Amino acid sequence: MAIAGSVSFVCDHCGKQHALGASELEFQVAAVTEDKMGEHIHYVFEYEADCDGCGKRIDIEFEVWEYPLGTINHKDFTMSGAKDIQERFVVAHPQT
Ligand SMILES: [Zn+2]
Repeated sequence: MAIAGSVSFVCDHCGKQHALGASELEFQVAAVTEDKMGEHIHYVFEYEADCDGCGKRIDIEFEVWEYPLGTINHKDFTMSGAKDIQERFVVAHPQT
């Protein structure tokens, strides 16, 4: 499993809109815990860039928890230099 989708946000300095597509999302599995109901998977994607409008540093840590499998249960965003995050994250099933 992996996290796909898209996200957009706004530079909190100059207001420029930024968008990331599925190919730019690089979620890594940070932890997997298992209970009798199944696996809980915690994904993290740390995004860092300089705003191409004003050059200000943008750092965002996206966290997504998948539970039960195939379902996004919880999301959390820690951001610096960005605001107004709009996301459409989905659990991607591998092509087999
Ligand atoms: Zn900016």
